[in-house]
Amino acid sequence: MDLHEYQAKEIFRGAGMPVPLGEVATTPEEAEAIARKYDGMTVVKAQVHAGGRGKAGGVKLAKTPEEAREHASNILGMEIKGLTVQKVLVTPAEDIDTEAYCAVLMDRNAQMPMFMVSAEGGVDIEQVAEENPDAIRKLHVDPRYGLLPHQAYWLANTLYDDPGLIKQASKVMTQLYHAFMSANASLAEVNPLITTTSGEVKAIDAKFSVDDNALFRMPEIAAYRDTDAEPQAETEAREAGLTFIKLEGNVGCCVNGAGLAMATMDLVKYYGGEPANFLDIGGSSNPQKVIDALRIITSDPAVKVILFNIFGGITRTDDVANGIVEATKSIDIQVPIVIRLTGTNEEQALEILKNAGFEAYTSMDEVVEKAVELANQA
Ligand code: GDP
Ligand code: MN
Repeated sequence: MDLHEYQAKEIFRGAGMPVPLGEVATTPEEAEAIARKYDGMTVVKAQVHAGGRGKAGGVKLAKTPEEAREHASNILGMEIKGLTVQKVLVTPAEDIDTEAYCAVLMDRNAQMPMFMVSAEGGVDIEQVAEENPDAIRKLHVDPRYGLLPHQAYWLANTLYDDPGLIKQASKVMTQLYHAFMSANASLAEVNPLITTTSGEVKAIDAKFSVDDNALFRMPEIAAYRDTDAEPQAETEAREAGLTFIKLEGNVGCCVNGAGLAMATMDLVKYYGGEPANFLDIGGSSNPQKVIDALRIITSDPAVKVILFNIFGGITRTDDVANGIVEATKSIDIQVPIVIRLTGTNEEQALEILKNAGFEAYTSMDEVVEKAVELANQA
């Protein structure tokens, strides 16, 4: 789960990091009222789960509270990378001397958290990685010992020469590491980490992603979920206990097991199609899950065909077949459905589907080829 900048900053403040004040507004008037609380310039910042807001016009400096209102009225409702801005953060503006990059992320290959820091901050780190990879320094942290003081100093020293700045930055590294670990984060990023003209180190942007599988033990972080900022279908799927990711294609996929879902999507591509989603209905054969899955898939107007690919191990395929028959009775489905079932009780399953007038297959290649053909005809 991705957090908004203002939420990430709350976590950072909680860890003691130097983060400017700020409050969230949903109307231009609120933005003006918040700006009035701060002396001098403010920054109005779009709160969406996307980077590069500055380039897209979603980060604006305001000299007066009136100007903050104007910026807010332009930014609220703006689309950034397909997401509509519904909130802005209003924060006092800093006088920036330098902009650096620092982040902790989970390096799954090394099975350890890893710091990435660069004196070339502010811009896209992907761009730095491509054009000047030596400007990025990496450091793995053994989670048994945590970030050791000399490591924090080493990181800070790659950013600054001034001892005062190094001391402040090394403290920030330690605090960032604690914020990352205590929230079961997969990413905690500050870009830019600035130095002000008066010699202070501050985190003026914040990006934070939390491992979904850890949310159950952190209700205070789970509460940060902003369902308005994520695709509606993903919210519904999560509430129904399904794993669902919306994609750009037109072949709706309904599969049990993440591995089989991946293989199905590969095969859809192999036969020249594009999957409309990743959907794992899980190991159970509960017909309600099939109904929920079909409702979510068919709510996407891009879907031209629905492809079921079910392997019956513990899952009984006759239960799934019954679920499909029940679901199609209760939902009005306008697109063709093709089904492949194999494994436990497949003879009964095929019989149930045949009696209900469905085309059913046992070969994965055949069913995917058929689905792609139907999608391309539509
Ligand atoms: P992003 O574009 O989504 O990464 O948003 P950022 O919060 O990183 O802001 C983008 C850029 O706007 C920064 O790199 C800064 O150059 C500028 N900016 C943001 N906040 C301030 C501020 O308080 N003062 C000044 N002078 N510039 C700022
Ligand atoms: Mn940034």
